[in-house]
Amino acid sequence: MDKKKDCSRPDVPNCSAKMQHTDKKLEQYLERQALSQRLGKIKHKVMVLSGKGGVGKTTVAVNLATSLSVLGKRVGLLDIDIHGPSIPKMLNLQGRTLQGKDETLYPILSGENLKVISIGFLLKSEDDAVIWRGPMKMGVIKQFLKDVEWGELDYLIVDSPPGTGDEPLSICQLIENADGAIIITTPQDIALISVRKSIKFCRELNLPILGVVENMAGLICPHCQQRIDVFKTGGGKKMAQDMKVPFLGSIPIDPKIVESCDDGTPYVYKYASSETATAFGPMVKSIMNLDSKEGNRQSTGAGTEKCP
Ligand code: ADP
Repeated sequence: MDKKKDCSRPDVPNCSAKMQHTDKKLEQYLERQALSQRLGKIKHKVMVLSGKGGVGKTTVAVNLATSLSVLGKRVGLLDIDIHGPSIPKMLNLQGRTLQGKDETLYPILSGENLKVISIGFLLKSEDDAVIWRGPMKMGVIKQFLKDVEWGELDYLIVDSPPGTGDEPLSICQLIENADGAIIITTPQDIALISVRKSIKFCRELNLPILGVVENMAGLICPHCQQRIDVFKTGGGKKMAQDMKVPFLGSIPIDPKIVESCDDGTPYVYKYASSETATAFGPMVKSIMNLDSKEGNRQSTGAGTEKCP
């Protein structure tokens, strides 16, 4: 055979490059298929985002997932906050390790119907730092989506890393038909500047915004009962109005939130009838409303801002 035409020969120019290209395309196709097979069993996927760290994004994600699971929903909570995975601690699941078989990973169960996956379950110790470059992070995020056997779920709540960098971008691109994002901010200008970026990020990616939550809005002094606006107040609501996105309410600073995060019992579970717990109501409702909006990305509807 003419050497030039024998494409099975690695020494023939262009051929191995061509084959590599085809292999890559096949790999991507199989990957997409595996992703849509796994994620197809999940009715609704909701991202919890924030412009910056420390505003209570994980706290809100944990309490939202717990509220939904207490209401009898089948819930998954995916922690892809690779550099600060605090979900195992907040749900008292430290020391648990992921079990796997034949390229399948099984989530850890918290309570009866809350399934949890966190990078924290892969670390030997809570003190271990993840020092990974972009492709490794992308690889683990992909694996968490592709290889985790979530089973049938009503909701998957994704606790994304803060900001608008590689990891939030990867997850938003990998979950192609996510129902929307809840964006957490604190009321002060510094946080609001970055949350505007998160809103623009969602719009760029055509990810519907379910709403903005203002966390750490005011503290009631336990001694004099006067309100102290530690990080100002009302900024989140005003920003939501300016940016034309739904506002899902304010959560006050409550020392019991810190305590419940630290002892691993979600606040909404431990203090279910408190005033602060009721602040989570509109967020839970906005997620449960998705049930009446199947195929949300193709539809419009109250409580969901559609991207232009
Ligand atoms: P993020 O995920 O945005 O980095 P976290 O959810 O980890 O933030 O919260 C950071 C800290 O703030 C935690 O110790 C948590 O207990 C505390 N926290 C969050 N929201 C509140 C609140 N409303 N009142 C008091 N403490 C809070």
